[in-house]
Amino acid sequence: MATTRSDLPKVLVSACLLGQPVRYDGRASGHPDLLQRWQGEGRVVPLCPEVAGGLATPRPPAEIPGGQGGYVLDGQARVLTVAGEDVSEAFLAGARLALELVRRHGIRVAVLKSGSPSCGNRHTYDGSFTGVKVAGEGVTTALLRREGVQVFSELELAEAEQALAAL
Ligand code: SF4
Repeated sequence: MATTRSDLPKVLVSACLLGQPVRYDGRASGHPDLLQRWQGEGRVVPLCPEVAGGLATPRPPAEIPGGQGGYVLDGQARVLTVAGEDVSEAFLAGARLALELVRRHGIRVAVLKSGSPSCGNRHTYDGSFTGVKVAGEGVTTALLRREGVQVFSELELAEAEQALAAL
């Protein structure tokens, strides 16, 4: 049985990367071995910002025109569903809940799902719903970075592990 230690630095992780079926399409996004190990060590704080912000699962896909979560934080862009519904408030509420968790647990490292308009850390989609990616970050990632949290994706687990070890 894994040993759990309360003094190990905690890491915020997208719930869909932990096997939870919270994606917009009602599916999960896998469950990498390293994340399972961290869970066994009691260091994972899971969150789906979109569900925490009040959105249902499944839900319509949403994108940020231009793909910049920071602009949503600053009121300069909105998050829109494929049908044109403005879901910015739910995205902002989820980001604020992520910030609360980070502060409560002293979290300095997060592993969030790549490409998401909430969780993406290097790219998002451009708002055209045609699969076009742009360099950018999701709303939650942008807010956590403003707090100084290092945000990695499931494609950068080795880097995330190094960052955690360096704390
Ligand atoms: Fe939720 Fe983020 Fe996963 Fe989307 S990418 S399902 S917002 S945890």
